[in-house]
Amino acid sequence: EKPFKVTVIGSGNWGTTIAKVVAENCKGYPEVFAPEVQMWVFEEDINGEKLTEIINTRHQNVKYLPNITLPDNLVANPDLIDSVKDVDILVFNIPHQFLPRICGQLKGHVNSHVRAISCLKGFEVGAKGVQLLSSYITEELGIQCGALSGANIATEVAQEHWSETTVAYHIPKDFRGEGKDVDHKVLKALFHRPYFHVSVIEDVAGISICGALKNVVALGCGFVEGLGWGNNASAAIQRVGLGEIIRFGQMFFPESREETYYQESAGVADLITTCAGGRNVKVARLMATSGKDAWECEKELLNGQSAQGLITCKEVHEWLETCGSVEDFPLFEAVYQIIYNNYPMKSLPDMIEELDLHG
Ligand code: NAD
Ligand code: 13P
Repeated sequence: EKPFKVTVIGSGNWGTTIAKVVAENCKGYPEVFAPEVQMWVFEEDINGEKLTEIINTRHQNVKYLPNITLPDNLVANPDLIDSVKDVDILVFNIPHQFLPRICGQLKGHVNSHVRAISCLKGFEVGAKGVQLLSSYITEELGIQCGALSGANIATEVAQEHWSETTVAYHIPKDFRGEGKDVDHKVLKALFHRPYFHVSVIEDVAGISICGALKNVVALGCGFVEGLGWGNNASAAIQRVGLGEIIRFGQMFFPESREETYYQESAGVADLITTCAGGRNVKVARLMATSGKDAWECEKELLNGQSAQGLITCKEVHEWLETCGSVEDFPLFEAVYQIIYNNYPMKSLPDMIEELDLHG
């Protein structure tokens, strides 16, 4: 049977890490996957050299994942359309603000037998309301799309320190390709490594909601940490945050399952790791200690990487306002107001309580 050809779209901190994982498995299971994995790279010039050339010759993404050797069957490609030629499985892994443009470019170039997994953490908020990014990909490209989300700080996974993750995928009934369709076993073979333990479930909505919203909670944790309030305050923010994440799921994605939040890596475990050591918490902490705005802090700390919570909290605010539900989510609202309207961080406890009383 023809092996599955896999392409990773994206080559940032997490994009490159997942491409490494996938390339290792494609090399390891040649009967299941074509050994060569393409990785689409948003081309950049690094001191006079092209990033794709650096990756293909030195096998390192020196800008977004320095000091990690990448497998030699991973091929960096600056041409998006060329990178998806004859592909069977597409792994999306870019900061979510770039997804609409990427999908627009891919339209008409992806066959309907193709299956996708989104490793993005965020939502699409537009005319159709709040949408999972996997649903957006399905709608834009006409292909089935699941998600991968977990307690996965990229550099730790790249260094092959053990962690867990969750993949969620519904198998569609309309396969029109040659050979077999992608199933849970294929997805496990694609992502599972000795250092990266995968559980495959059906709840795409549950894992995606948690992945998107824990970034907003992490900003709240960064504020209280930066104010020097310590672990108790951070735990309080996480407790309130988990409640709001679950409420958001129940209100807008009733198909999501509450047990996913507690039992899967993508649930409370991701909330904990992100609030401890993620980029969002770092950006918010620097905002608190320096008084600079979010974008200055992001630029100063992340060297071109992106703290997705900054965008997600605005998208969530806009959606909740449209629904008249802002008061049901006082922490999400407080984070938004601090970042976009300069509300004082010190009043975070009151903002949470005050709005709660009115809710
Ligand atoms: P990143 O934050 O490292 O972002 C940088 C990437 O964006 C680079 O590849 C850069 O080339 C690209 N980029 C810049 N401008 C662009 C443009 N105009 N068009 C297209 N691409 C452009 O990205 P990441 O860490 O790979 O994150 C991807 C997704 O994975 C996000 O949704 C993130 O929340 C999620 N995630 C990240 C981590 C992590 O630890 N980094 C872990 C789990 C999930
Ligand atoms: P940050 O984007 O805040 O670094 O979070 C990474 C992450 O998603 C960990 O699972």
